[in-house]
Amino acid sequence: MSKIILIGAGVGGLTTAAILARAGMDVTVLEAHIYPGGCAGTFYHQGYRFDAGATLAGGFYPGGPMDIVARATGIENWPISPTPAGDPAPAMVVHLPEGDAVPRFGDARRHAEHRAAFGSAGERFFAWQEHTADALWDFALRNPAWPPQTLTETAHLMGHITRWLGADVRRLSPALLADAFRPVAAHLRGAPERLRQFVDGQLLISAQTTSERANALYGASALDLPRRGVVHLTGGIGAIADTLVRAVRANGGQVIFRQEVTEIVFERGKPVAVKTNKGQVFPADTIIANLPPWNLARLMGEQAPRVLKTLVGPPEGWGAFMVYVGVAEEAIPKGLALHHQVIEPGAQSGKLLSEYGEGRTVFLSLTPEGEKNRAPEGFRAVTMSTHTALEPWWTLYQHDRAGYDARKQAYLDRMLAAAERVIPHVRAAANLIMPGTPITFQRFTRREAGWVGGVPQTNLFRAWGPRLAPGVWMVGDSIFPGQSTAAVALGGVRVATTILGGEKRAETRY
Ligand SMILES: Cc1cc2nc3c(=O)[nH]c(=O)nc-3n(C[C@H](O)[C@H](O)[C@H](O)COP(=O)(O)OP(=O)(O)OC[C@H]3O[C@@H](n4cnc5c(N)ncnc54)[C@H](O)[C@@H]3O)c2cc1C
Repeated sequence: MSKIILIGAGVGGLTTAAILARAGMDVTVLEAHIYPGGCAGTFYHQGYRFDAGATLAGGFYPGGPMDIVARATGIENWPISPTPAGDPAPAMVVHLPEGDAVPRFGDARRHAEHRAAFGSAGERFFAWQEHTADALWDFALRNPAWPPQTLTETAHLMGHITRWLGADVRRLSPALLADAFRPVAAHLRGAPERLRQFVDGQLLISAQTTSERANALYGASALDLPRRGVVHLTGGIGAIADTLVRAVRANGGQVIFRQEVTEIVFERGKPVAVKTNKGQVFPADTIIANLPPWNLARLMGEQAPRVLKTLVGPPEGWGAFMVYVGVAEEAIPKGLALHHQVIEPGAQSGKLLSEYGEGRTVFLSLTPEGEKNRAPEGFRAVTMSTHTALEPWWTLYQHDRAGYDARKQAYLDRMLAAAERVIPHVRAAANLIMPGTPITFQRFTRREAGWVGGVPQTNLFRAWGPRLAPGVWMVGDSIFPGQSTAAVALGGVRVATTILGGEKRAETRY
């Protein structure tokens, strides 16, 4: 039987492994770290369980990505509950530069919020966004195989489009076609600046770029997260990966921790094994790398295909500056929503993209009141992140440690100042404050240079597909549909079902 090695226990890799194992394949996941989840892991530190990167979990509604994953992997229940705080709670609250806050409700209350916050321009924009997302959602969920990489996949895609249009040919409107080639900003012409800032902030966390650059089709779907529903994972976001690890094992596969793959061994152009930092050799004829392309290029060495060999450092995209804070419960306003995006006055919408992250937009999540084992008695765990360019951190780290430390302190101060708009006096109420730079992220996830969030979604036609070389595949947020736990899980479904014999079978199976 074919032997499959999965490198990395991120959500994308574990989803792929659990499906393949369930189909009876011989699957082993090798993970460098001591726990699974990568960017969506939950780590233990001084009595706290902090979400390392991702905090907001979507896609668990009936028929949604995580429901598809559950059915494909045999998971009976995800450890989820509706997001506590509120009735029902907003998915998140966006704090605008002018000082006011706009909750993002998934239910009918959103219309009134859009009207009150942005007037008729807001109503028009979100009417387009929701209409476009509705048109695409079903199509994309049933066909995550983008971009097609073989004739079979192209034929399958064409058949899928024909069936989709057969159901209602009006779906293919000229506006929808145009949106495949233009940015979200095409729908914001003449809109008030605060609406742009709001949309830019939301796109930055969901498409990794702002409205002037985010593709309109991708952007409309990415902005739909609140409407599709956000859940809380008991124990933290890492519970997704924990559940998947149990599914891999229950389905007969293996997950082995503390095994960093250092080389993929090839014979006559085909993979035959991987070597790890423990000196172990694991035979394999199929390798699935839950890694960014730069990491995979290094493991493949001379055998890397041209597309990997010609890569130069992470060209586009982001690192993350993180702050993990333990805060006294009494300092947290009663009934506070769990997720917040703070947009500071310095975030210049529509200007240089580089000015939009860097502590000027901050995402902040806190653990629910009273959640067991997440924080010492009377405290709650807070995870904060901001997008940051990689290069300055690495240059300082390698050549000017004092400069690196000073920059870290400056970012920490900026992030805490932003946090005070959500939790006043957060600094005074903290018993633990721990910053992390892209260097930290690289250390814990091994991702090249701490590059996170995948490729900014500016162009649908430049997306990476999963098939890299004979017997070598890539999963995770570097391939379409990109970043988020739900998106990488969908990418995993695609890869597993393709390996199992084509998406046609996969579609009927789930
Ligand atoms: C700061 C931040 C905030 C985010 N917020 C959200 C959010 O709120 N909601 C959301 O849905 N998404 C969010 N995301 C995105 C989401 O976390 C990621 O897109 C997703 O988790 C990536 O999954 P992946 O499958 O690509 O694997 P990764 O998370 O990249 O995991 C890869 C795994 O491979 C392991 N590994 C690497 N190299 C090796 C090797 N050589 N040998 C063995 N193992 C190896 C790593 O240790 C890691 O466990 C956020 C990301 C970040 C960074």
